[in-house]
Amino acid sequence: MEVNEQSRRKRVARLKKIIIFLVVFFLLLPLVICFILGIKIRELSTRIDELTALLNARMESSPGITRTLPEEDTEIPLNEETSENEEEAEELPQTAQHKVYLTFDDGPSVYTDEILDILREYDVKATFFVVGKEDDVSKAAYKRIVDEGHTLAIHSYSHKYGEIYNSLDDYAYDLERLESLLYEVTGTQCKYVRFPGGSSNKVSKVPMSDIIKYIHAQDMEYFDWNISASDAVNTALAPEAILANVTNGIDKYETDVILLHDTGNRKSTVDALPMIIENIKAREGYELLPIDENTELVQHLKIEE
Ligand SMILES: [Zn+2]
Repeated sequence: MEVNEQSRRKRVARLKKIIIFLVVFFLLLPLVICFILGIKIRELSTRIDELTALLNARMESSPGITRTLPEEDTEIPLNEETSENEEEAEELPQTAQHKVYLTFDDGPSVYTDEILDILREYDVKATFFVVGKEDDVSKAAYKRIVDEGHTLAIHSYSHKYGEIYNSLDDYAYDLERLESLLYEVTGTQCKYVRFPGGSSNKVSKVPMSDIIKYIHAQDMEYFDWNISASDAVNTALAPEAILANVTNGIDKYETDVILLHDTGNRKSTVDALPMIIENIKAREGYELLPIDENTELVQHLKIEE
């Protein structure tokens, strides 16, 4: 009887051990897998950077290859339109007047001041398509953009595709919210808009032509871009790769609207900026300007009104 009781206890103890082992094992397993996947992602990201840099270097050395199409602002599907700008662009002689517009989307961020410092150092004016932020640091950034002669422009208050592109009312609400915030803070009535994802985005449930008509009814104009730094697609892109993305094909257009990003995870854009400015300034007949009423419209989607 006692022997039986003893062996039963032993069995129970062994079973307990097995259960504890299994519980610990299955708790640790996902953690270990996550860790390994994390390392893999880092490795792949580095590899992508290397390949991008390599590709850019190749493209630069072989002028026969056409430049990549303007990319979307974020990773939403790209419009299939065959870049009208590219087809219409004329080859221009080196001495012709090129107007280059540096545009920064998605700010203000922790890097806005640094970007503004660099622009001031080089005496360059740019355009900032901002999002809505109501903290004091962001408000100071909006003010500094205006005070230093840059163009403050509207991107989106929330920048949430799922909200702003649900209906025209939702879009209008978002736009008016940002417009009034910027007016309140800076006293400036913003006139220029860049749609999140561009006018060629494929996520809007509202036809973009309706939104464009609404924008025009507000006496505003929208701008897309014809050159992308691709700094949104890959946040870890090396500054040299960003420089190559910006300057590849820059001589194809008379007006270049360059898409860059001002967000907290894009230090490489900040690092690339002095190189970009120096490269463009070194070209004869090139001018760096902020978007204004004289800027030739660069738009992916044009509508008949
Ligand atoms: Zn954006």
